[in-house]
Parts: sequence; structure tokens; C-alpha cells
Amino acid sequence: MVAAGPSDVAVVGGGPIGLAVAWRCAARGMRVTLYDAAPGSGASDVAAGMLAPVAETYFGERVLTGLLVSSAARWPDFAAELAGYTGLDLGYRTEGTLTVALTPDDLAEAERLWTYQRDLGLPVTPLRPAELRDREPLLATRLRGGALAPGDHQVDPRRLVAALRVAVERAGVTVLARPVRDLAELDATATVVAAGCGTAALTGLPVRPVKGQILRLRAPGGAAPGFRHVIQGHADGRHVYLVPRTDGEVVVGATVEERADLDVTAGAVLDLLRAATDVIPELAEYELVEARSGLRPGTPDNAPLLGPLPDRPDVVVAAGHFRHGIVLTPLTADLVADLLATGTPDPALAALSPARFGTTTPARFGTTTPAGGRPAPDDGLTR
Ligand SMILES: Cc1cc2nc3c(=O)[nH]c(=O)nc-3n(C[C@H](O)[C@H](O)[C@H](O)COP(=O)(O)OP(=O)(O)OC[C@H]3O[C@@H](n4cnc5c(N)ncnc54)[C@H](O)[C@@H]3O)c2cc1C
Repeated sequence: MVAAGPSDVAVVGGGPIGLAVAWRCAARGMRVTLYDAAPGSGASDVAAGMLAPVAETYFGERVLTGLLVSSAARWPDFAAELAGYTGLDLGYRTEGTLTVALTPDDLAEAERLWTYQRDLGLPVTPLRPAELRDREPLLATRLRGGALAPGDHQVDPRRLVAALRVAVERAGVTVLARPVRDLAELDATATVVAAGCGTAALTGLPVRPVKGQILRLRAPGGAAPGFRHVIQGHADGRHVYLVPRTDGEVVVGATVEERADLDVTAGAVLDLLRAATDVIPELAEYELVEARSGLRPGTPDNAPLLGPLPDRPDVVVAAGHFRHGIVLTPLTADLVADLLATGTPDPALAALSPARFGTTTPARFGTTTPAGGRPAPDDGLTR
């Protein structure tokens, strides 16, 4: 579709964040143009799709945890609305997440985290090995313990993006299949920069790529996998997650690497498969159908950048969602669309302002110099 005249809102980036923002803005009556040479080709194309505010809560991320809880609470309605609007299946599942520990050391580490999560009031229930295997009989017999987070759900990110693409077209968004090199090119009253790792080059903000290698297996004979919960495994000091889909796919992830290449390495595949089969031995019989890498858009404090650029109130950033862009999609889209519709920022945006990293210089327009950021905490966790 070709834009007819200036838009109310130009959205740069057609990943889950940009698409959902565009959909929500169009639903509020704004004329929206979205720019992306290859929508859905960013981090979401490899993401696992865990919607896990509990199992993904770590020490030192309280602001982020609040956001995850708030956005996860919107997911049931968001998924129903999007599926109803498009008639498409998102692969949304609500069985919950089981975290399991194989050795005494793994269990000690996991218990510290469960205690922290419960102290925050998050719903997590420790379970004995027999109780875990009652729920998932394929789990390894040598488990030492685990916990259930019943409110942690999952969605298939590729189906999510496909549905959002249909939704924006149906809502009247103009989608232009080209990249934006400079925000000055855009003819709109307001601009939303939702370009994932491309955000640094457009704005000068500290969004950096954090590599994740991830695998996809398929159950034999086209059957559904023999387990239903998302499994997070602590396996002999390694960490792995297993995400079963009803179509037979199992996602096995993922490495967290401070680098920006997309190579898939033998060592990473070996580590992921070893940990996965330690947790569910039957996975050794599954077909290995895909080994990919993606780049998470990381920020110095692991929380997203949401809000206007310093000195440019007409440019709103919605980027830097790091490990959580899928779970944070509904909340981000609502906060940004409300801000653009009313001009009044939700109080939740205060802690997420792009200005929080002391950016006093205006955004760089007409430059492609990327900005760096502090590395993620080197805590050995696989996320
Ligand atoms: C291995 C891995 C596993 C993950 N698992 C999970 C998970 O289980 N749960 C979860 O919540 N999150 C997960 N994530 C994180 C999640 O994928 C990201 O946070 C999310 O995709 C961010 O969405 P986004 O739309 O901001 O960016 P992206 O999905 O990266 O999309 C950015 C889009 O912007 C476009 N773009 C870039 N530059 C420009 C430009 N100059 N002009 C126009 N368009 C541009 C790109 O083409 C792309 O389509 C995972 C990520 C990885 C890598």
C-alpha cells in the first residue's frame, strides 16, 4: 500500500512491538504508516515465546519484573482479541512453566530464585520429584526437585507476527516495505521507533545486540510433543528451556552471548542438546529441524526504552525489550498508543524513559553510528 499524504504516526520497525503499536494506534483512529523492509525478520523470528513473568524473574530486575507481570496479565485478552480479529491461531498455551533441577547444586541455585520470586509475591509452588513426574512423566528420573509457575504461558512468536501483520492491514495501516535510514525522511506528526537492534543507529540510544542461539526439534510421526508445560531446566550447571507446541515443535533455548554475529556453533548446539536430553531423555529421538541465531535488543539495565526522546517529544521510542519483547508486546502497545492519543504519559513510563541513561545530547539524525551499552550481567544464566 502507498501512503496518501502525511500520517499521524510513522512506525519504524515491523517486529511484534512495531506491529502491535501500529495496530493499537490505528484502532484509536490514527492514520499510521509502518516502515520495514522485512517485517518479522528480527529477534521475534527465532524467539521462543515464553510469557513467563515468574520463571524469568531474576535478582536485581524489580522494575522489569513489574512490567512483565503487568503485560502478562494482558495476554489472555490480547491473544483472544487478536485471534478473533484475524481468525488466526497464535499458538497461545496456558499450561504453565515447570522449573526443574537435576543435581543438589542445581536445586540449591533454583531454590534461591524461588524464594526471591515468592518474596515478591509471585505465584510459584515448589514440587517434589514425584509430583513433577506426575505432571510430566517424560521428565528424567534423577530430578532433585522443581517448582510450578501456573501463570506463565507461551505463544508462538512467528504466528503472533503473522497475525499482527494481518491485523494492521485490516485496520488500515499503510505498510511500506523499505527501511528508514534517517528519521528526517518521515512525513508524520509523530514517529515511533520500534526497530529492535536497529534503534541505536536511528537514535543514538544504547541498544546493543545480544546473540542467542536456539534450536527447534520435531516430535516423531507428526505427533504433539509428549509434554505440555514449558520446562526450564537447571541441568548440571547448565540452563535450558523447552517449549512444546501443539504442532509437534519443541523449542530448545538459548545461549546469551555478548556478540553480534549470527553464526551457529557446534559447541552451543551440543550444550543445548545435552541439557535438553538430560531433562527429557526422549528428546534424543526427536528430529533436529532448525538451528538459528537471533539478536536480542539489549539495554544497559535490561529494561526497555519507552517514551519520547530527550528534546524530541514527537519521537517516541519503543525498543530495547531484550529477552522479553514477546511478553511485553501488549503492555508496550497500549502505553505507546495511549501516550500518542492523549499526550499524557502513563506513570509506568517514568522509569523507562530513554533519558534515564543520561542522554543529554539530542538524538542523532542523519548518522548511522551505533551506540553501545554495558554488557548484560555475566551470571551464566541461559535466557
Ligand atoms: C533466542 C531468543 C529467544 C527469545 N525468547 C523470548 C521469549 O521466550 N519471550 C520473550 O518475551 N522474548 C524473547 N526473545 C526476545 C524477543 O524476541 C525480542 O525482545 C523482541 O523480538 C523484540 O521485538 P521488536 O519488535 O522490538 O524487535 P525485533 O523483533 O528485532 O524486530 C525489529 C524489526 O525492526 C526492523 N528494522 C530494524 N531497523 C529498521 C530500520 N532502520 N527501518 C525499518 N525497520 C527496521 C527489522 O527488520 C525487524 O523487523 C527472544 C529473543 C531471542 C534472540
